[in-house]
Order: sequence, then C-alpha cells, then structure tokens
Amino acid sequence: MTLQSHLEQLDRHLTRYRSGGILNLIDGEDSAGAGGVFETRSPVDESLIAKVARGTAADIDRAAKAAKAAFPAWAALDGAKRKAILHRIADGIEARAEEIALCECWDTGQAWRFMSKAALRGAENFRYFADLAPGARDGKSLPTKDHLNVTARKPIGPVGVITPWNTPFMLSTWKIAPALAAGCTVVHKPAEFSPLTARLLAEICHEAGLPPGVLNLVNGFGEDAGRALTEHPDIKAIAFVGESRTGSMIMKQGADTLKRVHFELGGKNPVVVFEDADLDRALDAVIFMIYSLNGERCTSSSRLLVQETIAKDFHARLVERVNRISVGHPLDPATEMGPLIHKTHFDKVTSYVDIGKADGATLAAGGTRVGDKGWFVRPTLFTCATPQMRIAQEEVFGPFLTSLSFSDEAEALAIANSTAYGLTGYLWTQDLTRALRFSDALEAGMIWVNSENVRHLPTPFGGVKASGIGRDGGDWSFEFYMEQKNTAFALGNHKIQRLGA
Ligand code: NAD
Repeated sequence: MTLQSHLEQLDRHLTRYRSGGILNLIDGEDSAGAGGVFETRSPVDESLIAKVARGTAADIDRAAKAAKAAFPAWAALDGAKRKAILHRIADGIEARAEEIALCECWDTGQAWRFMSKAALRGAENFRYFADLAPGARDGKSLPTKDHLNVTARKPIGPVGVITPWNTPFMLSTWKIAPALAAGCTVVHKPAEFSPLTARLLAEICHEAGLPPGVLNLVNGFGEDAGRALTEHPDIKAIAFVGESRTGSMIMKQGADTLKRVHFELGGKNPVVVFEDADLDRALDAVIFMIYSLNGERCTSSSRLLVQETIAKDFHARLVERVNRISVGHPLDPATEMGPLIHKTHFDKVTSYVDIGKADGATLAAGGTRVGDKGWFVRPTLFTCATPQMRIAQEEVFGPFLTSLSFSDEAEALAIANSTAYGLTGYLWTQDLTRALRFSDALEAGMIWVNSENVRHLPTPFGGVKASGIGRDGGDWSFEFYMEQKNTAFALGNHKIQRLGA
C-alpha cells in the first residue's frame, strides 16, 4: 500500500458522493435534508468532499417516528435473530473496512496506521454485542419466604445517539451496537465535521438485513438537528459522546421530556511517571497516548506528571522523540500524525500555544503550523508548567502535551486530581503498594498501571466528575439501553393487613 494507491482507491469510493451527495437514511429510505445541504471538506487540503443533507427538526421528527414505529417488532424479535443480523453487520464492516478507513482518514485527518484498525474494531464491537443479544433480557430470581421476585430487562425504546468527529466510525459502532443488541431502535446524529462513515455504517446495516426504521441517520448541526433529537418526546434516552459543555446543554434540553442520558465527555488525563518506573516503556506510552490519533482522543494522557529527580533526562528524551514524529498525509502509511480536523479546531489548538507561553511555561517542542494548506501542526510539548495554568487544566484535544513535575507521591496525587475532569489515569511505577494506593485515590473512571490504554470490551468505560455519566461495555451498556422490571409472585397466603375489616 502506498499513498498513491490509497488516493486512487479513495477517488473511486468518493465518486458517488460527488454527484449524489451524502443523504440521510430515514425508515430505510434515502432522504434529502429539510434544511438543504452543508459541505464537508478534507482537513488535508480543504477540498470539497461532498455536500451533505442538512437535517432539521422536521427530519428528526420523521426519523423518531420511524424509530418508534419499528420499535415493537425489533424489541420482540428473538435474541438469536438479532444476534445473526448484528454478525452480518460485522461481516459487512469487515468486507468494506478498507473503504471505511480511507474515507475516515480523508474526512477527519486521522492517520491510516490507526484508522485501518479502528474500522475493524467497529466490527468487533458488533460481534461482541451480537453474542450478548440473546441474554440481554435475562434477570434474576430473588425469593423471600412469601414471594418469588423475578426481574427482567426490557429495551427502553427508541434512543438517540450523538457522536463526535475524532474517531467517528468506531465510536458510532460502540454506541449503536449495544443499543440494537438490547432491542432499541436508533436515530443517529453524527458530527457535522465528519459525516462520511456514518453513512457507510447505515448502508451496511441495511444491506445486512436490519429492518427499515431500526437505525435512522440524520445529518445536521448540533444546535439544530442535535437539539431536536434531545428534545423529541418519542426518544427515550440519549447516548452522547462529545464535549463536557455540550453534555450539560443536552441535559438541560432533555429535561422537559425526562431523558435518560449517558455521557462520555472530555478529559485532561494524567500520566504519572515515578523515578522507579521502567522509563523506556513509560516514554513509549507517554508519546503514544498523546500524539497518536492526532491527540484528538478523549483518553489521551495530555498531562505528564514526572518525578523531579528524573524530569530533566526524561524531558530530553521526550523532546528528541517528539521532534521526530512524522506529520504528513493521513493516507500515507508512514505518517504518524495527520492534520487536525478543521480550521476551527486548528485555531483552538494553536491558541493554546500562545496561552502556554503567556502563562510562563516552556515551549520545548512543536507549536508551529506545517505547510500552508490543510490543518497540519507539529506535535507540541510544554514543560515547566504549574498545575493551575490553563494548559494544565483545560482540554486542548490535540497533539499537545503539558508536563509538570512533582517531588513525592502526595504532591503527584494532588496535581493529578486537580482538574475538573476524571476520565482516565496512567501510572508508571515498579512499587506495587504505591500503585495500589495511588490508583485507589486517583479520581478517574479508568486507570492503567504500567500500560497505555488497551481496551477490553467487557470492562466498564467512562469517566467521573466532568468526564461523564454512565459506563459503556459489557452489561453496563445494557443497563443504559434497558429498563429493569421486577415482578413479585405470592407463594401462598401470606398475611395481608385488613384495614376497615
Ligand atoms: P461536541 O460536543 O462539539 O459535538 C459532539 C456532537 O454533539 C456533534 O454531533 C454535535 O453536532 C453535537 N451537538 C453539539 N451541540 C449540540 C446540542 N446543543 N444538542 C445536541 N447535540 C449537539 O464535541 P466534538 O468537538 O465533536 O468532540 C470532541 C469532544 O468529544 C472532546 O471533548 C472529547 O474529549 C470528547 N470525546 C469523549 C469521548 C469519551 O469517550 N469520553 C470519546 C471521544 C470524544
């Protein structure tokens, strides 16, 4: 595979969008948006990829009604049949994995080396939840002396899924697969910056035999289509992945219809490196967890906390490696970092370079634009930061690492817990007792000790504090998409109080 061959293949895949645009899919039918169209452009060179149907409240209303109409039959379908359809969707994703990865790279700027795997992880998500579908409703028997309590789970109803632009395909499958496995129907509103692969997913689902109305796709803007979805009375729950402040807006928007919400939000995740750590492996992990996926990754370790006894040497090695990261065309297999998604995001990320300098931190690497076309930026590292600086508190969501040093474990913990967020934490030490003590006190939903982020689907994924509400993965996903029901059967003639007798 070369850049040239990738570009030729991509060109073939995009031909149909050039003439027809990217349409919504409502009740199994292609559909133009009531709001006209908007454009999606490549972050590589700002060229037009396609015009996209701009959905409005009217489109959301049609999609929500289709999801409501399709719900009873889908919810009643035997779990084994849902399982079979979900496996066929996984087959479809695998068959078109290359197309998905090419489109994702071109639409988002993410590098091929990561996106080719992300497409396959989307298939894995479907297979994992397909296998859980037959048992999703299983409950418990909780007997007492007088009653047999029997619990069962029921799918909650039609749900809304709202996704961001950073790794849109993988994240969409992560939400949509458990919803479908549980027996819910879905209206999906993908991010306006990266609509391409959501359309591919909807097509694959329908080709795999998912009945019309079970998955509906409505493109559009957050404040318009997104908002209408969160306010729609037929939509029973919203699974949202995005910024913390958007989550807060969605909670308000959904209040009148008492929406159940599941939020996967932002992070400012610490990676803590103690002097006794395996420093070679820690260095690899620190670099991978902030500069892979262009740093546009909720679980990125964007704050490095390094013990002051080793800080100087560790920084020197870090700077050397960061300066060697190859920034280039996302479809070039050699590229390690592609362009940022959009001018708006490029402006946000680069504004933090000025903020870091003004705050008095040291710009040790990067911070500059690459080329004059597209949204390429050098991987950036600030050292000598202090905990209250904005670059140590706010989510930049780019290839931007802020390094702080600490003297002892107590100080490291205080710094690690000093932000509004609590998604992940990474800890490097050979001292087992310290690892246990530190991870117990660290405010984060997910912690990796002597490891980068390696996801295992049965484990709970999610954050604390401003990083989210609820958990994904395994049975935790079903807890969100389903209602618990308890029925108590009297086992005999237990005593009933006789008022007025
Ligand atoms: P965003 O919040 O701007 O947008 C996400 C989605 O919400 C988009 O589809 C957008 O159209 C929609 N939206 C915006 N306003 C809305 C509104 N008022 N009502 C309904 N929908 C609305 O986020 P983004 O910039 O696309 O993504 C980056 C953010 O996502 C980062 O903060 C990142 O940390 C977070 N993220 C979190 C996780 C996680 O698992 N915790 C994973 C990936 C990304």
